[in-house]
This record gives sequence, structure tokens and C-alpha cells, in this order.
Amino acid sequence: MSRPPLLSLDEALPLLLARAQPLSGVEEVSTFEGDGRVLAEDLFSALQVPPQDNSSMDGYAVRCADVKAPGSLLKVTQRIPAGSHGHPLQAGEAARIFTGAPIPQGADAVVMQEDCAADGDTVRVQQVPSSGQWIRRSGEDVARGDRVLSSGDRLSPAALGLAASIGLASLKVAVRPRVALFSTGDELVMPGEVAPEAMQPGAIYNSNRFFLRALLQRLGCEVTDLGIIPDQREATEAALRAAAEHHDLILTSGGVSVGEEDHVKPAVEKWGALTLWSLAIKPGKPFAFGSIRRLDGISSAHFMGLPGNPVSSFVTFLLLVRPFVLALQGATHLAPPSQPMQAHFEWPRADKRREFLRVRRNAKGGLDLFPNQSSGVLTSAVWGDGVIDNPPGQTIRAGQWVSFISLAEWQA
Ligand code: AMP
Ligand code: MG
Repeated sequence: MSRPPLLSLDEALPLLLARAQPLSGVEEVSTFEGDGRVLAEDLFSALQVPPQDNSSMDGYAVRCADVKAPGSLLKVTQRIPAGSHGHPLQAGEAARIFTGAPIPQGADAVVMQEDCAADGDTVRVQQVPSSGQWIRRSGEDVARGDRVLSSGDRLSPAALGLAASIGLASLKVAVRPRVALFSTGDELVMPGEVAPEAMQPGAIYNSNRFFLRALLQRLGCEVTDLGIIPDQREATEAALRAAAEHHDLILTSGGVSVGEEDHVKPAVEKWGALTLWSLAIKPGKPFAFGSIRRLDGISSAHFMGLPGNPVSSFVTFLLLVRPFVLALQGATHLAPPSQPMQAHFEWPRADKRREFLRVRRNAKGGLDLFPNQSSGVLTSAVWGDGVIDNPPGQTIRAGQWVSFISLAEWQA
């Protein structure tokens, strides 16, 4: 019996995202707490930023008409520190001014203090200013009425600062997806439970649990970490069914291949539906997507089953789970952050599957390849600061342009 061709990522992702209806409900959070959340409203500015024309230097605010030649002498009639405001400047006058202080009416330039010589209540201006110099204009950052951020934007630290700059102490954001996280595998041991020297033959530490939980949390999810499910059919079914009740998504790692010890797939087929299974990507071929019915008989929780091999788990998370949980929050930008870069290595063996090779940017502006691309070698994802998205059937020559995805951005 011939197997159907594996689904490509470009076929799978739209199927997946079509089911990622944004969760209903909006939460109001303090702007302090907004990092990484997805905005659920457009933010319009009720004011100009900066509010007034102000000085970008410590120096003297002058009228250009009074300083036609170097060495002009002006009378210093006022002092304007940041946080205060002055009064109109008359002909022949200068105002001592500091960075951030409003420009007094009548002044049309600031001369930095290094170009001035103060002497009692006069100042000698050594430089002929050009109109507008060292003045930051009102509204040059944000004009009143501007939309500074849009619904669906993911809040970065800089975005939180921008929201604060227009006076917003709280923000409406999408509710957190509730995600149940399971690891499967009888070989798994939790770090801390058994010391390295006491590990039984065949046992390995559970590493997926740590990066999957951290990745989910960074993406704004509320994670219920439900530990390790043993490789047994009943236990797997019971765990999935219980988790479906109070979660939007159930995420598992391991147990989705075709071995006799892989119980996740049949359990999903029994208690829900399997929409997708197996993708033409490397690492990461085993990947399951579907749903698990809840007891009410109408609603269901989404299900995503990642491969057990750590690098496969990591890469499939970034390729598939990341856009999915962002879409549940109504995020608009879901694509990986890719850019063209030059390979500084040879990759002579083409693969039928689309590959994601772990690489690192070098000092010459190119990419070096991690020598061991095995799906079990998690070192590759730490040594590497990115992956190359290599299309199916392609070799790579040194000097060739490839599509590079930065891991720092992709994991953020
Ligand atoms: P599986 O998909 O269950 O067949 O697992 C594939 C490989 O990944 C096996 O070598 C497992 O031991 C390993 N593996 C599965 N789960 C984890 C995990 N949570 N942490 C580290 N390795 C794992
Ligand atoms: Mg297993």
C-alpha cells in the first residue's frame, strides 16, 4: 500500500490557521504588565509628543536675527530648566536653556553651551546659528490623533514605552490562551529527581518540557504543565480528555510516530479528530494536529502533538505552534523573521523534505553550519543563532544566498 505524499508546510499552515479562531474576550492590563501580549485595540494619541518645541541641547535659546556674526553679545534674561517654561524672548536677549525644556516664544534656535561664553548676565555667542537648530519640534514623534499601535500588534518593550508616552496606564490585550503541556515517554526522568550518576540505562532527562514551557510563556500563554504521561493507551486517553475540559490547546511532545509505543495519535483519533499528520519537513516529520472533544459534546480543545526528538520538537513549535497561539490572540504578524544571507559552507546532499538547518552568523557576515544536524542534538539550537529555511531538493554552495531566520527573534 503506497502512503499519500507528506503534506508540505505551505499546505499545512493555512489548514492550521483556519482553525485558529481568535479566543473571545479581552483583558485590561497595566502597561507595566503588557510585555509580549497582543493588543486588542488601536491606540490613538490624544496629544502631541513632544508636547512643545523643546531644546535638544544644554545651551542658549536665541533669535537668529540677533546673531548675524560670531561673537554677538546677548543679555541672558531667563533660565529654563526641563520641567519649567519660560516667557517670550525680546530682541537682544538669550535664555539659558537645558535639554528637554520648552523653547520660549520668539526664540528660533538653540546654541549649545560649548559654543557660548557666559559672562555675568550676558553671553557671547561664538557660532552663527541656523534657524531651528537643536530644536525638537512638537509632534515630531507622535502627532495628536495619530494611531501609534494597532489591534493585533504584539507588545514589545519599546511599544510599551510608546504607549506610555501618549499617557496610557493600561491596555486592552487578548486573553491568554490556556495551554496544557504534556511530555510522553517512559524513558523520561525529571532533572532533580535522579542524579546524573544514578540514571538507569535507557533513561534520559526530559528536556522538551523546559523549552516548550518557556516558549509558550513568552508567547503570552497560560501554561498548565501536566508532566509526563506514561507510554500507555489508557493513561494517554485519560490525560488528553481531562486536559480538554479547561484548556484551549493541548500540546504534547513525543509519541506521535508510528511505533507500538506511540499512543498519542490513536488516542486523539478516538476522542477527537486528527486534521493533520506528518509533514515534509526536516527535522520534524511527525507532527499531529487536531482536536479533543469536551464532555459537553459540542466544544473541543485544539490538539498539537510535536515529535519527541528535541530539535524536531523545537523547530515544529516555532514553525507551527507559535503562529497558532499568536493567531488565537488575534496577532497580525505570524510569519518567521527571515532575511537573505550568504552560506559560508557546502551542503551537498539535497533532501526531499524542506530542511531547517542550524547555523550561526560569523564575523564575515556569512553563515556557518553546525556540523551535526541530527534532530536529537539540541546543542545545535544553542550554538546556532538561527536556521536556514532550505527548500526541498536543494543543495547549498558556499557563497549562495539562503533564507535565514534569527532564533533570537523567532523565540521572542
Ligand atoms: P518519540 O517521538 O516518542 O518516539 O521520541 C523520539 C525521540 O525523542 C526518542 O529518542 C525520545 O527518547 C526522545 N524524547 C522524547 N521526548 C523527549 C523529551 N521530553 N525530552 C528529551 N527527549 C525526548
Ligand atoms: Mg516516545
